Amino acid sequence: MRVLITGGMGFIGSHLAEAFVAEGHEVYAIDDLSTGSIDNIDRLKGNPKFHYTVDTIENEPLLAELIDRCDIVYHLAAAVGVRLIVEEPVRTIETNVHGTEVVLKHANKKKKMVVIASTSEVYGKNTAVPFREDADLVMGATVKHRWAYACSKAIDEFLALAYWKERKLPVTIVRFFNTVGPRQASRYGMVLPTFVRQALSGAPITVFGPGTQSRSFTYVSDVIGVLTKLPNEPKAIGEVFNIGNSNEITIQALAEKVKQMTGSQSPIVNIPYEDAFDSGFEDMPRRVPDLTKINALVGYEPKVQLEEMITRVIEYSRLGKD
Ligand code: UDP
Repeated sequence: MRVLITGGMGFIGSHLAEAFVAEGHEVYAIDDLSTGSIDNIDRLKGNPKFHYTVDTIENEPLLAELIDRCDIVYHLAAAVGVRLIVEEPVRTIETNVHGTEVVLKHANKKKKMVVIASTSEVYGKNTAVPFREDADLVMGATVKHRWAYACSKAIDEFLALAYWKERKLPVTIVRFFNTVGPRQASRYGMVLPTFVRQALSGAPITVFGPGTQSRSFTYVSDVIGVLTKLPNEPKAIGEVFNIGNSNEITIQALAEKVKQMTGSQSPIVNIPYEDAFDSGFEDMPRRVPDLTKINALVGYEPKVQLEEMITRVIEYSRLGKD
């Protein structure tokens, strides 16, 4: 297969590229390096099965050409991270909505399958965990910028499903739940790499809000294991799947675990949301995936659990590349 990965030099995209190349496929990666990094493809550069272009997917002639060349598109290019969303809402909305629009438009011309990366953020303030894929999406007010991310991704999902329904473009949507692992940069504010960096440098470990909010972290290799199986699953077409790990931990407990596992002397400090982000910032108290659907499709069971995830993120952070 020839696989196009938008965001192919990002955290998840670069792991996906490695997995496909290891399986003997040919990979084309496009990334504008807005949050990705050329270091992420260190191991792939020079491999004759790997081709990369540093450019934006908004360069439509180039995008069209890459799509023509490939059999399947993984659309992972997006503005991600709550901090980025709060600080740069215009870029977030435009990148996420327009980027997906052009990918679907060009993929549709040649009816190339598209896998759209979405997020558990779309469930918003829904509290009925675990979240099934057909659960309601509960968004906050439009004056609260955080929800722009969820809404932009929800529009991507609507548009992809519309292309399937109306134009028979084969699409699959995957909703990631707090994916972690090496290459996830701390500078966009994601909690695990941030806590690890803080703990290793002796800086205060910053727990935002009460710390009682919980998340279910998923190791990147578990996500990749599912993504690489999708091209062989006709039943995945026109469907939405959660990909996650249902084990939950509170953010306070995560801070304590990171501190203990790094042997750090860092204090754990609680920072009110309004100081960390905007006034009136809303967080979600829990976020747990229902994995029944993806399990039925590909026999998915997450293999890597939290301690091991933290260990590997610590190892990566110690390399000083973050
Ligand atoms: N968080 C935190 N300290 C940080 C970064 C994040 O306490 O330095 C919290 C954040 O408020 C949220 C959780 O950790 O409750 C997960 O945040 P992240 O940005 O990693 O992902 P989210 O689940 O919000 O998309």
